[in-house]
This record gives sequence, C-alpha cells and structure tokens, in this order.
Amino acid sequence: MKRWQSLGSVLMLVLACVPMLGFVPTSRAASPDADDTTQRILALESLGRARPGEAAEQLEQLRATTAEFSPQRLELLTVQGLMLAVASQAEAAERAAVQLDAWSSKPGAPLGAEAAAATLLVRARSTARSGNLQQADAMLQKAMNHLPATLSARDRWRFVTALGYIRNESGKLEDAVRLNHEALALADQQAEPWRQAEARSSLAYSYYNARQYERARALNNEALALATQAQDPVSLARAHNTAAIVLDGLGDVQGERRSFELAIDNARRAGAKIHEVQYLANLADFFLKNADYKTALAQAERALPLARELKDSSSETVALANIGLAHISLQHLDLGKRYVREAIAIDEKRGSVSGVSDLVRELGVYLEKAGDMAGAVAAYHQHRHLDAGILRNDQQKAILAMQEQYDADGRTRALALLNREGQIKAEQLRRRDLQQRMWWLLAAAFMLSFAVVTLLVRRVRQTNRLLSSSNEKLKVQSERDPLTGLANRRHFQAVMRQLADDGKLSGTVYLIDIDHFKNINDRHGHGAGDAVLVEVARRLRDTLREQDLIVRWGGEEFLVVVQSLGAEQVDTLAQRMLAALDHAPVTAGVHHIAVTGSIGFATFPIGPASLRVSWERAINLVDTAMYLAKAHGRNRAYGVRLLQARDEAALEEITRSLESAWRDGQVTLTLLQGRTPMAAAA
Ligand code: GH3
Ligand code: MG
Ligand code: MG
Repeated sequence: MKRWQSLGSVLMLVLACVPMLGFVPTSRAASPDADDTTQRILALESLGRARPGEAAEQLEQLRATTAEFSPQRLELLTVQGLMLAVASQAEAAERAAVQLDAWSSKPGAPLGAEAAAATLLVRARSTARSGNLQQADAMLQKAMNHLPATLSARDRWRFVTALGYIRNESGKLEDAVRLNHEALALADQQAEPWRQAEARSSLAYSYYNARQYERARALNNEALALATQAQDPVSLARAHNTAAIVLDGLGDVQGERRSFELAIDNARRAGAKIHEVQYLANLADFFLKNADYKTALAQAERALPLARELKDSSSETVALANIGLAHISLQHLDLGKRYVREAIAIDEKRGSVSGVSDLVRELGVYLEKAGDMAGAVAAYHQHRHLDAGILRNDQQKAILAMQEQYDADGRTRALALLNREGQIKAEQLRRRDLQQRMWWLLAAAFMLSFAVVTLLVRRVRQTNRLLSSSNEKLKVQSERDPLTGLANRRHFQAVMRQLADDGKLSGTVYLIDIDHFKNINDRHGHGAGDAVLVEVARRLRDTLREQDLIVRWGGEEFLVVVQSLGAEQVDTLAQRMLAALDHAPVTAGVHHIAVTGSIGFATFPIGPASLRVSWERAINLVDTAMYLAKAHGRNRAYGVRLLQARDEAALEEITRSLESAWRDGQVTLTLLQGRTPMAAAA
C-alpha cells in the first residue's frame, strides 16, 4: 500500500498560492512596503509547505505590519489560517476563518468577496484535514463559485489544484484529470518551476490512478526536471514519491525503492515531517513486494506513531495497511485482516473511495498469496464492485477521450509547425517562381527556354509532393499505436465518423483484454509486457482478415470490428482468437510467458428489434460482457446474443445489470471457453 501525498500537504500547496491570489491586487498598485510584506508572506508560505506550524507563528509576528482591510492583511490571514489547518491546529485555524468571515460580512469593507472565498478555503482545509472529504469538496466548490471573475491565473490554480486532489481521492478520476490539466495550464502561465513541477506530479498521479502509467511517467519526469532545476527539496521529494508509485505500476520494483529513498532524503532536507512520514510509510510497500515481510512490518510500525502524532490520517492508513499486509504474509491472518480493516475504516470515514478500492484490491492479492481463498474471493468481488464505480462505466473512456483532446492540441501545435514549414516552402516556391520568370526572359533572349523551364517545373512539383507526403505521414502516424503498429482510438473514431454518418455502428465488435497482465509486468518486467502486447497484436492480425479493423483500445485491451459475419462465424472467430492468444507461450528474452485473454462480443444492429446503437453504447455492452467473462474465470469469450431492448435507453439499462438480465432471460449469452489449463499444458 502506498500513497501519493497527504491532503495536508496538498492543501499546503493552496497556502503557497495565497499571496498571489486575486486578493492581492498585484504589485502594480502596491507600495514598496506592501511589496516587501507580500514577499515575506510568500517566503513564509514556501516555508510552510514543509513546516506549517513554524510559518504560521512567523506570520503572526508579521501581522502588525499590515493595515486593516488591506490586501496584505487578507493574504496574511488566509495563509495563516491555512497553515494552522495543515498543522492540525483546528481551533486556531477556525479563529482565522472567523476573522475572515467577519471581514466579508462587514458592509462596505473592501475585498469582501475575496474574504468570503478565503473563509471557505480555510474551513475546507480544516475539514479535509480532520477527515471529511465530501464536506471539504462542497466548501471548495462553493468558494470557487464565489471567486471574483477577475481572478488571476494563480488564484484559480490553487483552488483548482485543491479540488483536483479531493476529487482524485474521492474516486472521481475524470474530474481529477480535468482539474489537474487545468491546474497545469494555469501553473505554466507562471514562471515558477516548483509550481509547474508540482502541477505535473499531481496530474501524473491522476493518470496513475486512471492506469495510464506511461503518460504518468512522462509527466512526472518533467516534474523531476523542473524540481531539480529549481533546487526545491519539497517539490523534489514529491516528484520522487510520485515516480516511485508510477514505477511500481510499471513493475520496476528497484526503481520504486530508489525513488522512495530519494523522496525521504529530500523531505528530510526540507524538514518536511508530514512528507517524510508519508514516504516512510510508502517505503514499506517495497519490502512487501520483495517478500521481506519482517522489514516491511518494522518500517510500517515506525511510521504509524509518527503519522498519529502529526494527525495525518492518510499516512496512518498507509502504515496500518502495510502492517496488516505484512502480518497476513507472515500467516498472522486474523491480526493482519484486523489492521487492514482498520485502515479501510479510516478511508471510508474520509470518503476516500479510491483509497478503499486500492486497499481492498491489495487485501485480495495478499490473502490469495497467503492461501486464504475465501477471503481473497470476497475481496476480489468487493474490489470489482468499487472499481466499477471508479473506473469502469464511461469514466476511463472519457479520460482517454480527454487525453486525446490534449494530444490533439499537441498535434495541432505540430501541425502549426508543419504549416510553418509549408509557408517556408511556399516562400521558396515564390522565389523559384521569380527565378522562373527571369529564366523566361533569359530564355526568350537567348532562345534557351525549354530545357530550363522543364527543369524548374519539375522542381516545383517535387517540392509540392514532399510537402503533401509529410502531411500524409503525420496523419498516418497520429492514428497508429507506436508499440504494436495497430490503429489507435483516434483512427477508430475517424473510421466511425466516416462509416456511420449517424454515429451508429454496424458489424461485430470484439473487445479482448489480456488476463492478469499486471502480473506479467510485475514478474517479468515492463519490457516483457511490451513484447507480449506486440505478439498479441501479431496473433490477432494473423487470425483476422486484411479488411478487419484491429485497434489498440487501451493498455492491454484490443478492439476488433468485423463486417458481415454469419452468427456461427461470429462465435468461431471468438473461439479462434482465444486459441490464438494462448496458442504458445510468448518468448521475451529468456522468459516464456503464458498468455490468455477474455473477450466480450456482440453483433450490431442487435436483437430481434435490430436496434441500431451508437458505437459508444455498443462498446459499453461488449465491455460489460468482457467483464463477465473475467468474473467467471477468464480465458473465455462471452457474446451477447439476444436482447429484449427496443431503444437505446433500454439497452443501457440491460448493460448496467447484464448478469441479472441474463439470469432473467432478457439476454442470451454465448459462453465460449478457452483451452483448459490441462489442455494448455499438454
Ligand atoms: P485482468 O485479468 O483483470 O484484466 O487483470 P490485469 O492485470 O490484466 O488488468 P489491470 O487493468 O489491473 O492491469 C493492466 C496493466 O496493464 C496495468 C499496466 O501496468 C499495464 N499496461 C498498460 N499499458 C501498458 C503498456 O503499454 N506496456 C506494458 N508493459 N504494460 C502496460
Ligand atoms: Mg484491462
Ligand atoms: Mg487485463
């Protein structure tokens, strides 16, 4: 069990922004003295990321230098309130909030709206710190609704960042990704490397939660570079911690350990106790993974009292969970389960849906390893259920679509570059044109025209050809998955737009998901995982025809669309794909890796009513069938046959509860089984 950062530290980020919040009309209007005060508040805020209590005390001493109802006083009160909240001095924080509240309700006082928002910010901080995410979310949302429209990018950044973190913790990953993207864009408008770095780490962590590890890694690498450049140990600590978590997701356990240790070193260097405890608690995860349960236990037991002393419920949860998982691994099953349940209870109370889901998943994995199958299965079901709320549904898809939008923005920039290239070429053409005319004159004069003109025209044509081919290349590349060479989602969407002008899909859709792929990465390394993906892509290509569409749909998911098959061929093809996947172990270096997959499929238009369905809904249905195949043991294909649905709403209803619709006879499922392990071994 490991976590990214405590809410305390995130909200510390909020602190750091306060001097730059719109509350302070920027230095334009401020006197040199006021400027000086702002600079000091800023410095204290930066200090407060690591040592909030100390910063709050020094702010108190600074108060006398600020005038009543001045922007500096507002900043100071806000920052102080936030720091007190982070330092878990709830009563003192509330006193600051009360002062801000009084300010905002004083008739005619300047900066009333800003003071009202600041009140909510401080209270949200305190509430979140004491463990109620939902309530903190509502307060922050309200604060954002009341922020003046003239708010600077920096102001907005802080509110957005804080809310992004809360949404992430509450399992609202789509919101979290969106908010953190916004925060990143806002941070980039400011030339402060530490802010830019931490915005990247936040977004990387959201992507990690959305299981997009490569993207998370790329973003966090940028964070590391920025933090290194800024020589800011707090940002460095956070970036290393994020790196550790992402590396674990990618199956690089040694990298995980190195990064946690660097995170701890940097947190120590900054004197940031809350961070240090968090990373210490996280490090136990490495020892768990390496089957060094005694060290894991000792490590987590060291972190627990520190977390409690700092009243950091997030670190407390991590420490408790790791103690529990270590005990389970040491065969102290009951004791271990008690600790993990205690951790789960804290997360439930905080409203941390993501936290609970992660914990339950890990509990299942460790119980399975320890031989407690009944416990493992119960945890597995609970996890599927929770995860369905967090990641299944349309969320992950929406995140991918969003990501594509951001990618598209990136490509637009690339295209703009290309266009610029095009402009340069056009300029060259114009020059050539001039040259050409000159040559005409010369040719007329000297009777040498034809040969020369032909040459020039050929050159002009050649330039044009080059230009259009580089455009073409860009288009083709942008629609291909670089690893497997298959089409990507962008291409799929383009095809859908072309084929179905009404957006409805026709043909048979198969969604193939590799079984236990995470284990392959964990056991053999990410490189071997990549090799498996490439080989699976090859096997699918070999099984299908030239005209069938094969898409790399997600990390280890493939989507296949096949036109006009008879009902029997539809099933046969599913069976053939199952067989192709586990036809022989995949060789990756010295490893021979057994691979199976689970498949969901259906043909559209669907059912006796020949219902026409949008491609999104069609895939949702197939995806749900695939999940049933997983839940019923994997290495099998479930096809949705007959469906009593007259319209798309009814279809959606059935999709939501496919398993019970199947039991009620509203749906017929074709169940195909891959080779049994015995046959596979033969
Ligand atoms: P299940 O049988 O339930 O599908 O389990 P699973 O482990 O296959 O599924 P899960 O969704 O938990 O994990 C998918 C893993 O795929 C997580 C991630 O590490 C890995 N992954 C995603 N993209 C890539 C990639 O491009 N390369 C590699 N090597 N791994 C990837
Ligand atoms: Mg998957
Ligand atoms: Mg899988």
